[in-house]
Amino acid sequence: MEIKKENIKVLYSAEQLQERIEALGKQITADYKDVKEDIIVVGVLRGAFLFFADLCRQLDLTIHVDFLGLSSYGNRTESSGVVKITSDLSTAVVDKHVIVVEDIVDTGLTMQYLIENFRTRKPKTLKICSLLEKPARTIQPVDIDYLGFTIDDYFVIGYGLDFQGKFRNLPYIGYVDGLDDDE
Ligand code: 5GP
Repeated sequence: MEIKKENIKVLYSAEQLQERIEALGKQITADYKDVKEDIIVVGVLRGAFLFFADLCRQLDLTIHVDFLGLSSYGNRTESSGVVKITSDLSTAVVDKHVIVVEDIVDTGLTMQYLIENFRTRKPKTLKICSLLEKPARTIQPVDIDYLGFTIDDYFVIGYGLDFQGKFRNLPYIGYVDGLDDDE
């Protein structure tokens, strides 16, 4: 299926996203303000790149940033949680405070994989931040410490999220009627 930009409906506008991200930034800043050890904010590529960049700018904290590149196997409807790390962290996170920033928790399988992977790296603390969650599709429940929005069962695009590699640069989160996961 081809998507035309004019058929994309806005679910969350750029303004709504920024407002929510500002609030998340304040919440995280308050939670970590007395932390003495290093804080490493990890962006999961590629979907979280815009959210990550905007969130980091809302943190009134001294942080380190790092990235983890993931690619999923198979199609999304049959998400197996088997993901490949295409680009690993550049530093060790042992005894550090880690905040993992994701775009969306859908079935939860990817996040479950990430949490297990991070636990083996022995951080001092591990928190999960996701812009979106889609509870209708949960297979593996995940505790999200910092959540932007809970959405209905839409396949969303924009603001980092792609459809067949495209539309990641839209400044809003959108959806297209009739587009479901099998297409
Ligand atoms: P999960 O393992 O939770 O099922 O899937 C997580 C990954 O699938 C996300 O990080 C994202 O890359 C992709 N994904 C899940 N739902 C959507 C969606 O609605 N739109 C887009 N573009 N990607 C999604």
